[in-house]
Amino acid sequence: DLILQAHHLVKTYSQHSGTLGLQKTRIRALDDVSLQLKRGTTLAVVGESGSGKSTLARGLMRLLPLDSGQVIFDQQDFLSMDKQALRHARKHIQMVFQDPFASLNPRMRIGEIIAEGLVIHGVGNARQQRDQVMHMLEKVGLKAEDSPKFPHQFSGGQRQRIGIARALILQPKLVICDEPVSALDVSVQAQILLLLKQLQTEMGLSYLFITHDLRVVRHIADEVMVMQKGKVIEQGSVENIYNAP
Ligand code: ADP
Ligand code: ADP
Repeated sequence: DLILQAHHLVKTYSQHSGTLGLQKTRIRALDDVSLQLKRGTTLAVVGESGSGKSTLARGLMRLLPLDSGQVIFDQQDFLSMDKQALRHARKHIQMVFQDPFASLNPRMRIGEIIAEGLVIHGVGNARQQRDQVMHMLEKVGLKAEDSPKFPHQFSGGQRQRIGIARALILQPKLVICDEPVSALDVSVQAQILLLLKQLQTEMGLSYLFITHDLRVVRHIADEVMVMQKGKVIEQGSVENIYNAP
């Protein structure tokens, strides 16, 4: 049972090069990338900076147009969906970002930040939305009373908990985690990874987990794919890749 499949994704950028920047070079940021993610599991995408990980994430979410390839999300052809179908599908795909501070609006109370998805998609009335936010705050290890506070009143780890609450409030099927613990202290990283694991089991979530950190892969992933210069150079279960001779 696959929640996400990508077949033969290709994305080329043109970059200005040469001393005066007048020449143009083409860069294959994604060069025939395919992947499969089983429902309820975690696929880690690993690779050095510049290997194409964020192009992959943005391409999969249709935040960036791809040159070619196919994306199947929950049995539907995601790249050819019309606006309305896309809007509906987007409800089921959420992202958790590396730097929760940069992605949390400093002028919004965290209750409003977490409720945003419910408001945008018109889920429930104001009272139900408030109850869901309180419930979600407790699920991620914060307190319901924290709801009127602002992001700067929280530590880095707590802010990532807020980012996770915001991503999960709509009970998405797929969560794309883009370096979600890279900006945190090592001790806090472990707590956030544990929280993500607990929520995965509880809510049946599927994670596409982007990271450059191989230690993180061990803690969170079931399957792993390694990218280099836009290509997948290795792919398999975490045990197979780590126990390879
Ligand atoms: P173009 O019009 O050249 O196809 P864009 O208008 O999208 O490209 O971007 C302008 C230029 O900025 C690109 O050609 C590229 O050199 C540079 N650029 C933008 N983002 C990046 C990036 N993430 N990595 C490297 N270069 C980038
Ligand atoms: P990663 O997330 O693994 O660091 P990226 O997907 O950001 O990799 O980048 C893959 C390649 O594409 C790099 O060579 C990068 O410089 C290039 N690139 C990314 N975005 C752009 C852009 N907007 N314009 C031009 N080149 C880009």
